[in-house]
Amino acid sequence: TTILAIETSCDETAAAVIENGDTIRSNVVATQMESHARFGGVVPEIASRHHVEVVTAVVEEALEKAKVTYQDLTAVAVTEGPGLVGALLVGIHAAKAIAFAHGLPLIGVHHIAGHIYANQLVAKLQFPLLALVVSGGHTELIYMEKDGQFQVIGQTRDDAVGEAYDKVARALALPYPGGPNVEQLADTAEATLDLPRSWLEKDSYDFSFSGLKSAVLNRLNNDKQRGIVTDRAALAKGFQESVVDVLVAKTVRAQAQFNVKQVVLAGGVAANKGLRKALTEAFANKDVTLLVPPLSLCTDNAAMIGACAHSMWLRGIAGNMAMNARPGLPLSSF
Ligand code: ATP
Ligand code: MG
Ligand code: FE
Repeated sequence: TTILAIETSCDETAAAVIENGDTIRSNVVATQMESHARFGGVVPEIASRHHVEVVTAVVEEALEKAKVTYQDLTAVAVTEGPGLVGALLVGIHAAKAIAFAHGLPLIGVHHIAGHIYANQLVAKLQFPLLALVVSGGHTELIYMEKDGQFQVIGQTRDDAVGEAYDKVARALALPYPGGPNVEQLADTAEATLDLPRSWLEKDSYDFSFSGLKSAVLNRLNNDKQRGIVTDRAALAKGFQESVVDVLVAKTVRAQAQFNVKQVVLAGGVAANKGLRKALTEAFANKDVTLLVPPLSLCTDNAAMIGACAHSMWLRGIAGNMAMNARPGLPLSSF
């Protein structure tokens, strides 16, 4: 199969051509980061407009780089949700137009399922598996008994981990997007400011990061009031260590309880080197394969959407021209 995939759920306009669900023929991402940076976050209306401006060129570039034409395609896939409604609509309309013009099946993909299936581009997924999804809007532990089945066993009760990174970045006066900048600052630290870890109930796989975020803000405010110069790098490091400790410990416990042989990392925060390293170490001496996507497949891209669409296509799942943007689309099995 040769699938053209389009992703426009947030601030990346992306298109990719994926062969047989595991081979990247092309993977084009046009980021709008700079347009949003001066606002400190994604402005939905600006995002939609940028998508409209570049989506056609991005799709054409993906086809060109893959050296395929519309006639070579098996199907067109697109992110159906969750995401910003106006942003999603641009990708969906582009995909519909292509599907209609060339008589191709149209496959609507869940953005988070896509993040998980990014790992299918790294190695063959082996079920049952456990996925740790850490992104700008999601923090979830997902048990997959088989291909296309998602059981959320734990999730954040307040902030997503990427959201916490972005808010802490703002408090530390670091530019958007926050995650990579907090990590960079933490890397320069010579000390660590110890911050609390939020474990919740003993047997819970849920997460909570708003308390940790408040601890960072309080520290900055208290220091300021007392005229103390905060060691910002040490604070960033303390924040990151707290986040990583909790994520890794819960993933390790879930792996043991559900007895999975494969653990996959997914979502934008999976780009975090500290998290990647800690997870790698945690599973190093266990009979477990840990899959970690390359950085370019962690943050939003269309290759992951194509990989997931392939799995859906194999099971005969396709949408139709009535497809609409679903900003709050729940993760359901397929
Ligand atoms: P969702 O996937 O939940 O819909 P999203 O698509 O906006 O949300 P992603 O693009 O998957 O999120 O991830 C973006 C998030 O990842 C941002 O919050 C960003 O700060 C964070 N992030 C990116 N790189 C790093 C890093 N190196 N360390 C920590 N966080 C990071
Ligand atoms: Mg993004
Ligand atoms: Fe995402």
